[in-house]
Amino acid sequence: MAVSESLYMVRQRIESACARVGRNPSDVRVVAVTKTATAEQIREAVSAGLTELGENRVQVLEQHARELGSVPAVNWHLIGHLQRNKVRQVLGLSRYIHSVDSLRLAEEIQKCAAAMGVRVSVLLQVNAGEEQQKFGANLAEARELGARIAAMPNLELRGVMSMAPLTEDEARIRKAFANARETFEAIRATGVTKDCYRELSMGMSHDFEIAIEQGATILRLGSILFG
Ligand SMILES: *Cc1c(COP(=O)(O)O)cnc(C)c1O
Repeated sequence: MAVSESLYMVRQRIESACARVGRNPSDVRVVAVTKTATAEQIREAVSAGLTELGENRVQVLEQHARELGSVPAVNWHLIGHLQRNKVRQVLGLSRYIHSVDSLRLAEEIQKCAAAMGVRVSVLLQVNAGEEQQKFGANLAEARELGARIAAMPNLELRGVMSMAPLTEDEARIRKAFANARETFEAIRATGVTKDCYRELSMGMSHDFEIAIEQGATILRLGSILFG
């Protein structure tokens, strides 16, 4: 199926999910996750209006960005685990990092961003499923961590990112997203976040409708768009 056709279907499902909970579909954005996409499909996605692209590995992001070449107005989001020694490289390619999950990583991004004289949008990744996920701050420490990151001068803390457990159990998925949302609110309640703090990046191909019902503002969609 062509990317534009998949996107059309996805948008209809987004609209239905929004309608169920009285949300405005324009408050839900799609980041197209390119990790399974061909260069051709990525170009197709961009022409179809998907200009927010996400990749979970720095090296692959770099490769895709090079392939796209001079295509204007594309924003890359880094959505996967980031090692501190890759931060400088990432900032040359992406100024939107969804996967900040520790103070040390945030401090490294702050340091590199200051040296480069740039501002970087970040999301705090939280482990909302409370199971054996490898990455993400645990909910108990997220409030403190979020407040510390929000105070860093070159970082713009825009919200929280989370992944639901890989399960067919809808109730568990829903609970994980609800946890992420509560954590998002708890960080806002510290009073240190700014106006740009309003994003909940959650929902992937198999669970994005539940994520919308739980308040997602950014969906990270890969396989449903690119097969
Ligand atoms: C791959 C990936 C996605 C997209 O997953 P799909 O199930 O293909 O939609 C979203 N977020 C992260 C962090 C990913 O690694």
